[in-house]
Amino acid sequence: MTPADLTFDQQHIWHPYTSMTQPLPVYPVVSAAGCELNLADGTPLVDGMSSWWAAIHGYNHPRLNQAMKNQIDVMSHVMFGGITHPAAVALCRRLIAMTPDPLECVFLADSGSVAVEVAMKMALQYWHAKGEPRQRFLTFRHGYHGDTFGAMSVCDPDNSMHSLWQGYLPEHLFAPAPQCGFDDEWDEMDIVPFARLMAAHRQEIAAVILEPVVQGAGGMRFYHPEWLKRIRRMCDREGILLIADEIATGFGRTGKLFACEHADIAPDIMCLGKALTGGTMTLSATLATRHIAETISNGEAGCFMHGPTFMGNPLACAVAAESLALLEEGAWRQQVKDIEHQLLAGLEPLKRCEQVADVRVLGAIGVVETCQPVNMAALQAFFVEQGVWIRPFGRLIYLMPPYIISREQLAKLIDAVAKAVENPAFFRN
Ligand SMILES: *Cc1c(COP(=O)(O)O)cnc(C)c1O
Repeated sequence: MTPADLTFDQQHIWHPYTSMTQPLPVYPVVSAAGCELNLADGTPLVDGMSSWWAAIHGYNHPRLNQAMKNQIDVMSHVMFGGITHPAAVALCRRLIAMTPDPLECVFLADSGSVAVEVAMKMALQYWHAKGEPRQRFLTFRHGYHGDTFGAMSVCDPDNSMHSLWQGYLPEHLFAPAPQCGFDDEWDEMDIVPFARLMAAHRQEIAAVILEPVVQGAGGMRFYHPEWLKRIRRMCDREGILLIADEIATGFGRTGKLFACEHADIAPDIMCLGKALTGGTMTLSATLATRHIAETISNGEAGCFMHGPTFMGNPLACAVAAESLALLEEGAWRQQVKDIEHQLLAGLEPLKRCEQVADVRVLGAIGVVETCQPVNMAALQAFFVEQGVWIRPFGRLIYLMPPYIISREQLAKLIDAVAKAVENPAFFRN
């Protein structure tokens, strides 16, 4: 890429959450393989982000590439209305087999946010069909469920600036975020405000929506699995649906195939995305129980009211099925365990640093929470100099590498984080 390409980019192309008047630098990546991204000038960077939870098997994986090549020569796309195809059937078979038992009906969508929209719409249609319309969702603060309006309405109200959308976003119910950490002793008091909120609005709530165990983009917080057991029981008692947004946590990232397994519960609706295609293409899935699917189908509308143009894209389905086949071979379990041990050993000692407020590790996720917000541009440049790709935000520096990362590569990531937190220049006061 030439300097002119980069200037063009700055002047004409939006990046996620960026300004067109004060753009932050972007780094030109021209290829990627295994656990490395290659910059245009030839510099390799060890990838600590898995391209936002997605590239769990690393980049340019020969089996994922082959699955796409095979499918391309057969059929890249065909509409899903009135038509089915082998790639979709193969993928959905695998999804149903690997997710918790009562989930039997799959809706294939285009992105995580759309999977959340679909889940919320399913809950609304479910209650409408029962002749008892309910329109409110109950969730936690510090959640993140996507950037479209329905999804945004259940994201943390401050992080996603609900004030900016006032009068446009529906107002849902927000309980305080769990304080009881994953490994803490269970604190009965933690759940009291949530239980009260549910009790006070029990006849209005269509569903509880949450990220099981790990709150991702809303703060990288890990909470006690007992929360999920309690919420499952409360929802059962009231007949309220439970939506588990496993878009970030799904496919092994937390040490279990799905984070719900930490509490041994099954949701009524589950959203999957991100790592579904091994980080190669955009695809998501919303799974529901047969009871929900039948109730919706027997309702006034007579069908589920959603159907994206690129629904069930064969190319994406084929590579997703291959990614799930790779997972089913099981190497991820030991890989995630090894990453967890190395992250713990490497990051825990940073707790002693003045700039560090907390260190948390779960599965293949390592988080260093700092006292002051990071100076993102300066820190990003430093990481690139160190030969690593780590993208901090707010007061969070975190690692979630591809499962195939080597010990040496992970050591390099940890070392870069350790150097960063020792330098006050990277933090704003
Ligand atoms: C990333 C994410 C989403 C949104 O997915 P997109 O593919 O970015 O639309 C929704 N929920 C959770 C938990 C996520 O991490």
